[in-house]
Amino acid sequence: MILDYHMHLRDETGAVDHTADAAERFVARAVERGVDEIGFTEHVYVFKQTRDFWQLPSQMQQCRQDLDVYVEAVTEAKQRGLPVKLGLEVDWVGERADELAECLEPYPFDYLLVSVHELDGRYALEAGRDEGAWGEWPEEEVWLRYVEALCEAARSGPFDVLSHPDLAKISGVRGSDERYAELAEAVDAAGVALEISTAGLRKPVGEPYPDRRLLELSAAPITLASDAHRPEVVGESFEQAVALARACGRDSVSVLEGRTRRQEPLG
Ligand SMILES: [Zn+2]
Ligand SMILES: [Zn+2]
Repeated sequence: MILDYHMHLRDETGAVDHTADAAERFVARAVERGVDEIGFTEHVYVFKQTRDFWQLPSQMQQCRQDLDVYVEAVTEAKQRGLPVKLGLEVDWVGERADELAECLEPYPFDYLLVSVHELDGRYALEAGRDEGAWGEWPEEEVWLRYVEALCEAARSGPFDVLSHPDLAKISGVRGSDERYAELAEAVDAAGVALEISTAGLRKPVGEPYPDRRLLELSAAPITLASDAHRPEVVGESFEQAVALARACGRDSVSVLEGRTRRQEPLG
């Protein structure tokens, strides 16, 4: 089975289309690329129901959508018989994680991704080399704090998958073996899955997330992800993701449904 469990109904310009028709366009691309099932994982900070949690202007500006509309759109796509799952990409909010999980609890998610995009809620990892987190701390310190946040997120409980689990390498600043070992230990102890994301191939680092060291040190189950913001990107470069998974001993993928996981053969 091939699945793509990370995509957004919101393009790079910020234009949002939370409708079943939009979901259908992503499915059409999945079918063309031989992807059996896709999962939508809109960013948690675009929903007005979560407004209280965000500090970055970029998040607060986008916090205008209605979570009910998004959930209804994907639910309608399911009712049309499309092979889709309802997920969400949840930013790690540290000590407020339980509060955020409570806010999401009433919704029928199949799974929740957890992502660390910024440190201390303010310092972006995806900023340029001298900005955001990289302007605030030395490189080694950024990695230390990043992995610490990811480990906490993995252990916290309400999440099924660690999303793009070494995003900090985005500009080519790589983590040490020690950091990957810490992360692998936390992931395995927590029982969360790891996402193999081809989004990194489209970034300066030019390789999938995560580094194979993490997949070799950890025994965690995996999902596959494009992090598409447009239908064309669904399933992009998945031959590389599947090859990485196999090279690191994975012969199955996690299928997530109603917050439970089962393994299906990969490919
Ligand atoms: Zn992300
Ligand atoms: Zn994403």
